[in-house]
Amino acid sequence: MSDFPYADRFHVHRSLPATGRNRAEVLAELDTMAREEDATWETGKISGTMYCGDHDHYAFLSEAFAKFAHVNALQRDLCPSQTKFEGEIIAMVLDLMHADAVTATTPAGLVTSGGTFSILHAILAYREYAAATRGISAAAGRLPNLVKPETAHPAFDKACHLFGIENRTVPVDPTSTLVDPATVAEAIDDNTIAIIGSAGNYPYGTIDPIAELGALALARGVGMHVDGCLGGFILPFGEELGYGIPAFDFRVPGVTSISADTHKYGYAFKGSSVVVFSDKAIRNAQYFHQLGWSGGKYMSPGMDGSRSGGMLASTWASMVTLGREGYRGYADAIFATARELMAAVRSHPDLRIMGEPTFCFSFTSDAFDIYHIADFMKPRGWRFNGQQYPNAIHLAVTRPQTKSGVVEAFSADLAEAVEYARAQQAAGRMTQSGAIYGGVVGGLSSEVESVMTMIMDGMLDTQQALPPRA
Ligand SMILES: *Cc1c(COP(=O)(O)O)cnc(C)c1O
Repeated sequence: MSDFPYADRFHVHRSLPATGRNRAEVLAELDTMAREEDATWETGKISGTMYCGDHDHYAFLSEAFAKFAHVNALQRDLCPSQTKFEGEIIAMVLDLMHADAVTATTPAGLVTSGGTFSILHAILAYREYAAATRGISAAAGRLPNLVKPETAHPAFDKACHLFGIENRTVPVDPTSTLVDPATVAEAIDDNTIAIIGSAGNYPYGTIDPIAELGALALARGVGMHVDGCLGGFILPFGEELGYGIPAFDFRVPGVTSISADTHKYGYAFKGSSVVVFSDKAIRNAQYFHQLGWSGGKYMSPGMDGSRSGGMLASTWASMVTLGREGYRGYADAIFATARELMAAVRSHPDLRIMGEPTFCFSFTSDAFDIYHIADFMKPRGWRFNGQQYPNAIHLAVTRPQTKSGVVEAFSADLAEAVEYARAQQAAGRMTQSGAIYGGVVGGLSSEVESVMTMIMDGMLDTQQALPPRA
């Protein structure tokens, strides 16, 4: 892609225009970019990223968002509507996660701006709660630690990095892709604030043994966070539909918090997620207030300051218009499509699905470098996520893949790709694809860190340079 992807058609702004531009012209530009970019995933060949893909639903959410877009959800005296939306979003997620099974404590929740933020808030809450109730803090000479299966999302590593927590990442079984509770047990000590299990994890779409991990957390007196960012809004319906989903929520003794992304299978706009706790005291441990500020007494329920009321309104609107029936119907189509796609993969003896996945899955090969498959399928419009250790291809099945024809196109292209991969391997050729979350990019080798920095700089800084003159 060019550094200035639209420079040949639209003006590149590197300073504020001296006078404001015409609205119609700006909207026309936005429309062109949005239509062209939407055309990529509308094929159904792009893994993950578009969970809903229904323009009618998006238009409805936009209308709901627009009514409160300008409202600051931090200032509740002016907008009681936000108290209703936020409270009801939390209540609906608590209900979905069977918080009624919690009797000894009062369950509570927090709406955040994304899955990463739900995880960050949970881990911050555990750190603060452990400091207050168990005296675990670096200041007291007790460095808090978190035990994380290797497959759990990097948001947990980010939390450890940001909050000064020791990250105890433990390996998973290479065949089942699941963490062994005995391995987690060995990593727990007096300074462990919480352990993690995923339902399901991103790399393989598999579900950790939540019941055993919960029992372990209970026995050792530590917190247990279930990462349901991906699965939270689809697995409960998969369970109802008989897809053999084990309980992963508050029905499991020992589970003390769960993250569930409204902006994934909740079909809300990007920028919203929920984290729920079995005990309000854990959530409240991360509340922040500053009473002595000259600007007045300040408080915020989470790490965010001002937030758009549009986010709460549109998330709420997504949930109440879909209802259990809507979510169940979409889940059924997604589970069925995932099974068909996995059957296509299993029909090739050279391909191997990792573990026993549910609605998202990964596959690898012992016969050839699996990235040959990605290389072949890319020009046909397919975009998968590349994984490593071992190299694998990941498909997060979402609603765009449930359209008719997508499974058939996948099966046909995959069959040709397997032939291609065998030939490439036999000829000893290298692959172009590499592993990066959110895409498959080529050329990653020894200087990975500096390459990653260059990629991030590219996202942020390139447009600050002068575009080439025509
Ligand atoms: C998406 C995801 C997250 C959090 O990601 P965000 O991009 O911040 O929403 C966490 N865990 C899992 C398993 C996920 O799939």
